[in-house]
Amino acid sequence: MKTAIVIGGGIAGCSTAYALAKRGTHVTLIERQTALAQGASGNPVAMLYPKFNSGKSILSDVASAGFSYTHSLLKQCSNAQQLYDICGQIQLAFNAREQAKQQASLNNKTAHTAIEWLDAVQLSEKANIPLSMDGLWLPEAGWVKPQQLCAQLTQSDNIHCITNTEAITVQQNVSQWQVTLAKQSLLADIVVICNANDIKQFPQCQHIAITPVRGQVNFFTENALSQPMHTIVCTDHYLSPAIDGIHAIGTSYAPNDLNPNLSAEDTQSNLSALNAISTALFNQLDSSSVTGRVAWRSATRDYVPLAGQLIDEQALRKKPPRYNDNPADLPWLTGLYVNAGHGSKGMITAPMCAELIANQINQEPFVITHRLASALNPSRFLLRDIGLKRMTQNLFTF
Ligand SMILES: Cc1cc2nc3c(=O)[nH]c(=O)nc-3n(C[C@H](O)[C@H](O)[C@H](O)COP(=O)(O)OP(=O)(O)OC[C@H]3O[C@@H](n4cnc5c(N)ncnc54)[C@H](O)[C@@H]3O)c2cc1C
Repeated sequence: MKTAIVIGGGIAGCSTAYALAKRGTHVTLIERQTALAQGASGNPVAMLYPKFNSGKSILSDVASAGFSYTHSLLKQCSNAQQLYDICGQIQLAFNAREQAKQQASLNNKTAHTAIEWLDAVQLSEKANIPLSMDGLWLPEAGWVKPQQLCAQLTQSDNIHCITNTEAITVQQNVSQWQVTLAKQSLLADIVVICNANDIKQFPQCQHIAITPVRGQVNFFTENALSQPMHTIVCTDHYLSPAIDGIHAIGTSYAPNDLNPNLSAEDTQSNLSALNAISTALFNQLDSSSVTGRVAWRSATRDYVPLAGQLIDEQALRKKPPRYNDNPADLPWLTGLYVNAGHGSKGMITAPMCAELIANQINQEPFVITHRLASALNPSRFLLRDIGLKRMTQNLFTF
């Protein structure tokens, strides 16, 4: 039986453990917090909607494929009613730029066919609250509870979770990988690094550019006016329907801001967004019920997640390949993978990336195209930096 160590117990780590365990691999999942899903994946609720934009891009293709993949994954989960809801999303055309973007996405429906333009009256009917702007209706969007999803994904006899324990080093040890913890070392055939902004603690990931992006989401208790609302409504912020009696409004986006405390300014900005979505709801708000949570996304230089096998930087720099060399001959670190850098969309990108990594480990057909899988490779920045940009577009010719 193959063995794997997965480092980090957020959605990236839990979905990677799930994808490997269902193929019969014995997985040890290491999480430094006292429980799984306490970092970015610890928000009580996350929205599930693809990134739609005027043209096709790697980013929108990854989001679109991930959106479909998370949908199918959720359908396989038990206790679905408690876990997620495909309640639909309204994207209000809240300024001229957004209006133009929406028009362009309607003209370019290839990636996201389930989009419809509706006027304010029709959107108000969908949302079940009065809305004053026109916009887009995405019937397949919804929300999920990340902590519950992580718990479900790791319920397998093949997954052993070790919490309250930090992975300190990762080293190659003959034909296996050794992960050092405070009190012991573990050996496995495969290691998947899924610890978000902390991947750079491992020298094998030094070449990866990743930035922490602080986000604050606020919560408030439902009231008579807000309670009937049953879709997500967005401007450049989102407002969730009441889930277990609580609405979420968010979020702020602050690269490199490491302040762990709730910020009054961010709360104000989130509540202004609520006002822009519905002044009636804003006026009914009981401000004493407003709470919040801070966490950090992990953004890559090109905003595309990191998923796949690592390349040995030292070996690559020592003997740089030529542009027409076979990518199979690159100095791949056999058995060492990364699933991280999920930015603002981890609930839709991380599970698909986990499946892709399991495909690569087990030499199966990929869940996405080779072109997208190449774009996700975590060592792409390194290859680009040494002048092999073209190679990064097609790493899977073998
Ligand atoms: C405010 C906010 C709102 C968001 N809203 C949405 C949304 O609506 N929809 C959506 O799809 N996404 C949303 N996101 C993004 C999403 O939450 C993230 O993309 C996703 O949770 C990232 O998952 P992860 O597993 O990569 O990271 P995390 O969930 O941060 O998990 C990383 C884990 O690694 C652990 N760790 C770190 N170092 C070590 C080590 N050395 N050893 C052991 N464990 C270690 C950490 O403790 C942590 O638990 C939001 C993010 C924020 C911050």
